Amino acid sequence: MVARRLTAPVLLPCDPECSVVRDAVVDITAEGRIGYSGPASAAPQIDSDVPVTRLSGILLPGLINAHAHSPMTVLRGMGGDLPLLRWLHEVIFPAEAKMSPADVRAGMVLGSVEMLRHGVTTSAEMYFHAEQIAEAVLATGGRTVLGVSIIDLPGLDWRPVVDKVDKWIDTDGLRFGPGDRIELSYGAHSAYLLPEEALRQVNDSARQRDALVQIHVAEARNEDTEQRAQHGSVPRLLDKIGLLDGRTLAAHCVHLDDDDIALFATKGTGVAHCPGSNAKLASGIARLADMRKAGVRVSLGTDGPASNDDLDLWHEMQLAAFLSRLATEDSTSLPAEAALLLATRGGAAALGRDDIGVVETGRWADLVHVNPDDPAFAAGIDVPDEQLVANLVWAAGSRPVREVWVAGEQVVADGEPTKVDRRRAQADVAAATARVRV
Ligand SMILES: [Zn+2]
Repeated sequence: MVARRLTAPVLLPCDPECSVVRDAVVDITAEGRIGYSGPASAAPQIDSDVPVTRLSGILLPGLINAHAHSPMTVLRGMGGDLPLLRWLHEVIFPAEAKMSPADVRAGMVLGSVEMLRHGVTTSAEMYFHAEQIAEAVLATGGRTVLGVSIIDLPGLDWRPVVDKVDKWIDTDGLRFGPGDRIELSYGAHSAYLLPEEALRQVNDSARQRDALVQIHVAEARNEDTEQRAQHGSVPRLLDKIGLLDGRTLAAHCVHLDDDDIALFATKGTGVAHCPGSNAKLASGIARLADMRKAGVRVSLGTDGPASNDDLDLWHEMQLAAFLSRLATEDSTSLPAEAALLLATRGGAAALGRDDIGVVETGRWADLVHVNPDDPAFAAGIDVPDEQLVANLVWAAGSRPVREVWVAGEQVVADGEPTKVDRRRAQADVAAATARVRV
């Protein structure tokens, strides 16, 4: 049953060829999935009472931010230019210790609003007070793969947290909420902040439930010194534990050798490439071209808004391409089409999801409309395909994103969220920031 029809002069379904469909139709079913999508000339007849929305620009799938700690909008701008370890220990950890569940909720509402306004409909999150993150995402109408933060620090025992996630999934299901907006996941922080026993327990729990494990891997050169000395590399340690045999998403992966890359490719491990955060924190330039050549499932992530500060995945597309081109001295290293696919279908593949990230029949209707009334499209959208995608990715970015739907529900209209008030969300974060400041 078609509940709504959208028409647009251009559709970018983000299929493997990055096709450009002209004079397009996308039908949304009553359940919120995509019915027909393709040229208007081949669209099925619909009843005359089905509402039709005639859009003026480019329709594409909602973008997928594969690595974020979005509630850190509360900590945005605090000590951001300090060296990494001083920033963490003098500013971030003490401020996070003061964050209440309500502060996390406020931070996530604002983070979700920002992402939706940029056309990012799904984010893979890793943070604490996960119940409040789920509540916040259900309030804004976004979508998340919610990694409950599991970490071993003084006062933070990992065991009860793993038990809690097990029980939560066993009670509510792996995915729940309207349009399956929430997927629960294990946010195992890293091999350097968790003992091997914890990683084994997380792996057992996740495998039994077919859940995703999110983990930071080889971000800074000096992390995991012990694990590297003992196991060769973090990927080899994860493989030994069996973590690469299930659904695993490895964030950052800046310092990988050829064997690590081959291992990730063989095992189908997802990688969340975070070029903006890696640059801002001077972590290094990940080997994107080598990972893509080897067939690794690469996606893009912003990381948290305290270290990459605007949650705008379009910047990651540009940085991924620019840094890869500089590192390889090859300007063809990542074309605009490939950058766009990393942020859409690449994100879905890295998360192990076949129901988002592409506009095709049966997937959720997570859609973005880009308004062509913008200087980036001064030449119009009736230009050759290659020029159209170049103007979208290199010149327009998030700025002209105007309408956004998640599971067929419109959550952004004319650039503003429909389900929550943006100014109220900003005011709530302002109050939380004042409270936790150190
Ligand atoms: Zn991170």
